[in-house]
Amino acid sequence: MPGDAPGARRLVIENAHVVTVSGAEFPSGHIVVEGDRITAVGPGPAAEPAGGAEGTERIDGSGCLATPGLVNTHHHLYQWAAQGVIPDGTLFEWLVASYPLWARMDAEVVAGAATAGLAWLAASGCTTSTDHHYVFPKGRGDLFEAEVEAARRVGLRFHPCRGSMDRGRSAGGLPPDDVVERAGDALRATEDVIRKYHDPSFGSMLRVAVAPCSPFSVSEELMTGSAELARAHGVRLHTHIAETADEEEHCREQFGVLPVEYLDRLGWLGPDVWLAHCVHLTDKDVRRFGETGTGTAHCPSSNGRLGAGIARVCDLLAAGAPVGLGVDGAASSEMTPLAGEIRMAMLMQRARYGPRALTARRALEMATLGGARCLGRQDEIGSLEPGKLADVALWRLGGFYDAIDDPVVAFAYGATPPLERLLVGGRTVVAGGELRTVSGQAAAEAGARAHRRLLTGDHV
Ligand SMILES: [Zn+2]
Repeated sequence: MPGDAPGARRLVIENAHVVTVSGAEFPSGHIVVEGDRITAVGPGPAAEPAGGAEGTERIDGSGCLATPGLVNTHHHLYQWAAQGVIPDGTLFEWLVASYPLWARMDAEVVAGAATAGLAWLAASGCTTSTDHHYVFPKGRGDLFEAEVEAARRVGLRFHPCRGSMDRGRSAGGLPPDDVVERAGDALRATEDVIRKYHDPSFGSMLRVAVAPCSPFSVSEELMTGSAELARAHGVRLHTHIAETADEEEHCREQFGVLPVEYLDRLGWLGPDVWLAHCVHLTDKDVRRFGETGTGTAHCPSSNGRLGAGIARVCDLLAAGAPVGLGVDGAASSEMTPLAGEIRMAMLMQRARYGPRALTARRALEMATLGGARCLGRQDEIGSLEPGKLADVALWRLGGFYDAIDDPVVAFAYGATPPLERLLVGGRTVVAGGELRTVSGQAAAEAGARAHRRLLTGDHV
């Protein structure tokens, strides 16, 4: 069941409610795609091309909402295999219980988990996803390659972040010593995958980022070495920060400062950095994020599931800092659909800041252009504009949704409507609610097999 290949063909979506996210909104508009780019967006029907419209695929978007494809700024795909295992507890309790299980993973577990996780993301409107992989048990095959191959098969734009941990329990860290690497080994392996996979070109389907895991599992040496490596290669930096009160306490004890102050001291704030969670921020931290252009991957379901708190998203946005949405790993955010995080972000911000705090349109912007800014790709993706890549989600409203007049409210406030079409660089990944690049059933089975393999641990 192959998806159609990207190429020079022309595709036209008409009669849809088009939300460009860059300002304009067309209640009955069109989008023209040629090859992997958007060539026109506007009201009414599309203009006929000078050479005739032969060979054009026409999609009647009547009753549909067209948005930019969603951008997922934080994930741990391998955790598809470890879902529902530790259902309750704080981040540190959950991590300590999870590490021994994760230590059993191999390339086969990662391949199955990543295939299921990426297929699930595509089904909820995601066209670009990051992944943060930081557990590399020795002698278990090429885990990084396994997820890269899965992303190629599913057909999403992929930003795998080569993660690392080098501060085991004996060095004052949280993870057991047998799941961490040596700093030098981690940096060498990271440089290898940058050289092998990173593609900086316009329209790239794969960009690598450097991503030591967190202050409580990574040495200062590895944090600064990672920043130097990323900047030497012109790739982006990512880590977890300020997720819970436990982490704040750990940083005070170990480093004598708060988590974001620690990052600032290490040169880890800047326009080439985006950070997961950022729940516990001081006013000064928020200001520094705005001043430095540091991005935030906001993961509201995971923050709620772990009782971490409610991130200061409204304050970060007011400070001008980039904010995107992320589903986080499925072991702390089981089967979270990316589109559903738009609703979750809205509701959690309103619970904290009041009923006008985050509108549906602003939350949609976070899920698209905000995420693109976090990844440094705002000139390529994140909005529907001529010249940008044709990453488009078409949502089928109608039926029960007809009782709501505003299509963006219908999309964001309740259950996410079905996905009529998902284009990644003009290529169809989902049509009529079904995956076209891989079989949805096969992807689900691969995820379930990965789960059983990890839990039984027979291969270790
Ligand atoms: Zn995470």
